[in-house]
Amino acid sequence: MMFEYADQIHRCFRCGFCKFPSDFTDLNCPSYNRFRFESFSTGGRLWLIWAWLKGEIEWSNHLAKVVFSCTTCKNCVEQCPMKFSEDIIDWIVGTRMDMVEKSLVPTQISEFLDNIYKYGNPWGLPRNERDSWAEGINRYTSGDEYLFYVGCAGSYETQGQRMAKAFADFLKSTGKSFGILGSEEDCDGNEVFYVGEKGLFQELVKKNIDKFNELDVKKIVTLSPHAYNSMKNKYLGLGEIEVVHYTQLLLEMIQKGEIQLKELNAKVTYHDPCFLGRYNEIYDIPREILKNIPGIELIEMERNRQNSFCCGGGSGNFVFDLLGRSEDSPSRIRVREAHGTGAEILIITCPSCYCMLDEAIKTEKLEGILTLKDISELVKESLEKI
Ligand code: SF4
Ligand code: SF4
Repeated sequence: MMFEYADQIHRCFRCGFCKFPSDFTDLNCPSYNRFRFESFSTGGRLWLIWAWLKGEIEWSNHLAKVVFSCTTCKNCVEQCPMKFSEDIIDWIVGTRMDMVEKSLVPTQISEFLDNIYKYGNPWGLPRNERDSWAEGINRYTSGDEYLFYVGCAGSYETQGQRMAKAFADFLKSTGKSFGILGSEEDCDGNEVFYVGEKGLFQELVKKNIDKFNELDVKKIVTLSPHAYNSMKNKYLGLGEIEVVHYTQLLLEMIQKGEIQLKELNAKVTYHDPCFLGRYNEIYDIPREILKNIPGIELIEMERNRQNSFCCGGGSGNFVFDLLGRSEDSPSRIRVREAHGTGAEILIITCPSCYCMLDEAIKTEKLEGILTLKDISELVKESLEKI
């Protein structure tokens, strides 16, 4: 797999542009920012991969940590001035595929994949607990307008469940017909793909598409930008099924006048998740939603949109966290940046970011000073004031 890239990788000449945002004001590759060794930057990582492909260095646990600690945040793709920039993630994922195929992966990664294979979630939790958060939320039945695809973080993580509940309650209160798959839902496979387990990814795609077809699903709304990304861009055979991220549905309902929003006075800042922003260019929609809530003042962080700084959770790191929890961990840096804007609320639109940033707020002792909120929680509060 990787040898087809071997004669391209050396074209990276380690100039280091990809470590920064476009205005060079900060370090923007989360793994480089965390470890501050060249090998954890894009260029260093690519050169080590090249050396491994040529047989100049042996595989080691350290090499695997270098390869798997990239969160696939795509900052390097955005900033690299070379023509090959669009291929960087493919090279990294291709290397992971080689390592997975040869069982040359750290234990955390093999457990992560094994759990998804056996239980349909990365923690190995029972399938019948997948909808423990969903009391009063119906199972999808043919004829419902939307299948609400909750995903693993939304189903099992406390913060994700809060987010899933807020959006489901919002849909209920607006009278939309929708349902969830509950214990029949399986992992969407986005992280499996980026971790490099191609066979398992294809198996999940097939299982999910078969389930959607069996239930005659026409429209899917996803909680996670990761699920949105895999279904929108990686699922072959989805046919006519429409997939939207929940922020798209929220804005559509606001613009059609299906919901009325009342005043909420607050200063907020917004964190762009990589799989919504850089992967799918959805930057304006969440900001438009915020603009539509009277009294909300949006204060941008220095790094926003294409220059956003990853929370550190991408590519499975929100589960196995190879970047660790030090002062330099991306999530802690990000909440300090959010706090620095003077905003009292940090708005997120991704359950993985929610988990990462929630923990970072606690570690940074910002509880009660900076509140983390999912955008549908905010919209719901605004609705409840009617
Ligand atoms: S990936 Fe691009 S920007 Fe990064 S070091 Fe290589 S050539 Fe430079
Ligand atoms: S995708 Fe993100 S974490 Fe990975 S090398 Fe590029 S900038 Fe660094």
